[in-house]
Parts: sequence; structure tokens; C-alpha cells
Amino acid sequence: MSIRIDHLTMKFDDVTAVNNINFKIETGELVSLLGPSGCGKSTTLFMLAGIHTPHSGEIYFNDKKVTKITPEKRNIGMVFQNYALYPHMTVLQNVMFPLKMHGVKRRERQKQAMEALELVEIAHLSKRKPSQLSGGQQQRVAIARAIVRKPDVLLLDEPLSNLDAKLRVTMREEIRRIQQELGITTVFVTHDQEEAMSISDRIIVMENGNIIQHGIPNNLYDHPNSEFVADFIGAPQINTFNLKNSELDDTPFAKYLNQEIESIKIRPEHLYVDDKGIPAVITIIEQKGKDTLVVAEHNERKIRFYVEKDHILEVEQNIYLNARDEHVLLFDARGKRVGE
Ligand code: ATP
Repeated sequence: MSIRIDHLTMKFDDVTAVNNINFKIETGELVSLLGPSGCGKSTTLFMLAGIHTPHSGEIYFNDKKVTKITPEKRNIGMVFQNYALYPHMTVLQNVMFPLKMHGVKRRERQKQAMEALELVEIAHLSKRKPSQLSGGQQQRVAIARAIVRKPDVLLLDEPLSNLDAKLRVTMREEIRRIQQELGITTVFVTHDQEEAMSISDRIIVMENGNIIQHGIPNNLYDHPNSEFVADFIGAPQINTFNLKNSELDDTPFAKYLNQEIESIKIRPEHLYVDDKGIPAVITIIEQKGKDTLVVAEHNERKIRFYVEKDHILEVEQNIYLNARDEHVLLFDARGKRVGE
């Protein structure tokens, strides 16, 4: 099932939560809606689910207009941040529940629910109550319940945010596996860029109700169209230098200063120690296993870069940092990318 959103707007009184957005998701794709708190991700997902009716614009599943169709008639599965499991029911009963609501016979309900539990690998816990499960196991029940009716579309609203860091990584890999096994069109809401980068076929970046950029993860990382996307995607964060305040005078980067260009940004892995460049003094050296992350300071600005493990540097050492021209991203005063 493909999804198309056409000039969709949602307002809550005087707040425009979603502002005239357009996008298309192909059948079987996993697309993340990524952005900071309040940017309109959940509101967009709720409109896809039919929980909110948009102020204007249309939603199409395949070529069928579903904008005003109720959630029950959309054949979607949804997983929320808090799982919303029924505490008095067993795992099996929780997963059977959507089938019961749709009049599926008891024996068939049980068979289909067990199949869903097997897919999420918790069939052995079918008789437990939610309170007797770990967070990750509860999440699996919520996923089983969302997919048990073989929905055309799976909608996930920050499904991993209640899990600890390690479990989040395991569970996102599980979600990707299940999504690919079922070939189900999936929309995944998150504010965590690393999560979006690792799980998605494509990412839609939102800010203040607008879509700022969309694309495959590596494309957003390598070719951000704005300061917002460059800063939001990537950890450690991209390094920023201001050209207008003379910060880079007397360095090779001064050549970029012109009327249009206000700042430059360079990813940590693209800076290297050289005999010329931006002068800086090393303040922190962090061994990361495969390589080493170094923090240096230039005019009280922190600069982060990587060196190979066997590159010996010391705290308080004075260095110069340089980068190849093709790795220097240029931005104008309004934060828009220049020269791409
Ligand atoms: P978060 O990650 O914090 O959930 P989000 O990106 O999902 O954020 P939304 O929940 O879609 O953002 O909210 C977008 C904007 O709409 C915010 O300004 C929010 O305060 C507002 N908003 C959302 N739901 C409602 C509502 N039911 N009533 C009034 N305002 C709302």
C-alpha cells in the first residue's frame, strides 16, 4: 500500500501543527518522520491513522482518498510510546483483541495471534500478563497486536523511547526485521536521529510543522540543504565556524568569505591534523575503540574530529586542523546551503 499526502495542514486553535506538507511513501518502504519535540510528527501520524481530521489537504492510500475515513476502516496497525496494553488480559488475549473486535472466530483468532507472537519471538510468554514482562517484551506484544490483522500500513509513534539504550538498538533491529519480513509500508516517528538513520529507507525531516528535507539517510548526512538538517543529523554534531566574525581570518578557510556565505560546517571525520589550517589546542582525547575522538578548542569554540587509533596526540598540544574543499559545507545568513 502506498501513501500520498497532499497539501496537508492541521491547526489547533491558533497553532499550525502541520503546515501544508506533501510526501509520498512507496509500498513496503519504512519512512521516518524526524524532528525535535513539537515539530508536528505525531500530528502527521495521527492524521494518517484517522485519529485527527486535517484542516485541509488529502491523504491517499494507494489511489484511494482516506482523509475522512475512520481509523477502524483504514486497515492500519499502530504502536504507541506507552504500548497501551490491556493490563487485565494475558499476552495472547491482548493480541487476539483486534481480531475479536472484527468478529474473527475464536479458534482462528488464537491461531493468528500465536503466529504474530511467533513472528515477534515471544510465543512462549503468551499466558503472562503485561505486568510480568520486561519493557522490551511488552513492546513486542504491542507490535504483535498491531500486525495481527495483517494491516496495509504500520504506524509507530516513538515506539522505543521507554526502553534503555541497549534495548532500543535491539528492538529497532527487530522492527526492521519484522517490517521487511511482512513487506509492510511503515511510518516511524522519532526525535532520535541515530534511530532514524539506522532503521529507515528514507527520512522526512520536520521543523515547525514544515518538511525541511527528505531523502535516504546518507544523502541527508552528506548533503544537508540547511543548517538545521546539518546540525540535527550526525553525532557528534557537525563543527560550525563563523566567517563573519573574523574567526577564520589567517586560515585557508578565509577564502570562503564572501557576501553570501556566513558560516561553514565540517563533519568531525573530515577534519585532519595538518601543518596549516585552523589553530586549536587539544582539550580531550576519547578512545573509541576503532578510532579516537579528539576535542580541541579554537577561540573558545569546541571542535570535534577523529584520528586513527595509532595517531599519537596529547592534551594541551597545539595543532592545525584542515579539511578538503569538497568536505566544507557553506551556508548563507538564513541558514540555507550554498553551492550545492
Ligand atoms: P513530540 O516529539 O513532543 O511528540 P511532535 O513533533 O510529535 O512532538 P506534535 O505532537 O505533532 O509534535 O505537535 C505539534 C504542535 O501542535 C505542537 O506545538 C503542539 O503543542 C501542538 N499540538 C499537538 N496536539 C495538540 C492538541 N491536541 N491540542 C493543541 N495543540 C496540540
